[in-house]
Amino acid sequence: MEDIQCIFCGRGSDQVIIEENGYRGRKCPRCGLIFISPRPTFTEILNLYAHNHVSAESRISGAFIKRIYAKHNLRIIKKFIKNGSMLEIGPGAGYFLRQARKDGFEVYGIEPNNIQANFIRSKLGIPCVETFRMFPYLTEKKFDIVYHCEVISHFYDPISEFQRINSKLKKNGILVFETGNGGDIKERYYKFFTKFGYPEHLFLFSEDNLKELLRRTGFELIKIYRYSILSQLVISRILKKVIDFIKSRAGMKSIDKHGINGVPSLDFSNFNICGFNFKQLIRNSVNYFLYLARYKIGYIMPKKGRPQTVIVIARKAKIIRRLTKHMHCGLTSLPFGIFFQGSLGVTHLLFCPSALISLDSFTVTE
Ligand SMILES: [Zn+2]
Repeated sequence: MEDIQCIFCGRGSDQVIIEENGYRGRKCPRCGLIFISPRPTFTEILNLYAHNHVSAESRISGAFIKRIYAKHNLRIIKKFIKNGSMLEIGPGAGYFLRQARKDGFEVYGIEPNNIQANFIRSKLGIPCVETFRMFPYLTEKKFDIVYHCEVISHFYDPISEFQRINSKLKKNGILVFETGNGGDIKERYYKFFTKFGYPEHLFLFSEDNLKELLRRTGFELIKIYRYSILSQLVISRILKKVIDFIKSRAGMKSIDKHGINGVPSLDFSNFNICGFNFKQLIRNSVNYFLYLARYKIGYIMPKKGRPQTVIVIARKAKIIRRLTKHMHCGLTSLPFGIFFQGSLGVTHLLFCPSALISLDSFTVTE
């Protein structure tokens, strides 16, 4: 275990707002980031994923609803880019990658769990490297799209990870990710979560935290899609109580897989009262209803301070272009810049101390 500070402000926090499985979630008083401290070391986290075989097996099931979720996010991606190479970080059982391949993308995966990585390689025939960090992956390869869903909270070092993602994107490449808004949720809504997923969820970000993360790692925000998941949480809770009641009458054990960033889904694996087909039908219908509650009802519901899932679209910041634009305006903040006119009439910045100091300020959102 190791004590950590806010990754943005470099400060510790005494404000413990979540306690789960012996771990404490602290909220940074300055920026609102919620982080586990003390947290497991990197080696302890690797062991956690390497031995999570039960979870890995369960993620390979539930194909119907995972395809529905995959199609939803692919529809959003295709508004920005129609084809090209796509890397997914943490693809689980690869349902998103499989759907993306059907839609014409050239797909790759990085997955820390060996059962899931094997499944993606051998059953789906998709290249997938088994690693927790993307650093060693396909050294020369760059991608048009890097995608991850419900993964950002698992990153041990989100800033380094986003910098690596940036370096793996092509010039006009985009980053697309989905996550919760843990740092923005008012505490009165915490009761709707049956668990926060500690210690796997090391960080819970607010929307401002996400913007700061993008800004610091060389991205420009393009768009954020926001969906309230409150109705989904409420419906899941009611359904869980009903299912638990039925199961208790039938002498079965209740299983719930519900985390703050996770796709809520109810486990019917032992709900076998009426035969397999009926069970499958109920499971698919309920999960489809929860999907509608999340993305359709959730899209029009009030969102401020409430639990949300957000889909963020960002691209590599075009720093040089912005600097030259700045220069042409004749502003005095670049008095010592040395420029030259390259081929194709593009102006390059050779050296400029003041620009280097204030480089961050140029990666602004359009
Ligand atoms: Zn902070």
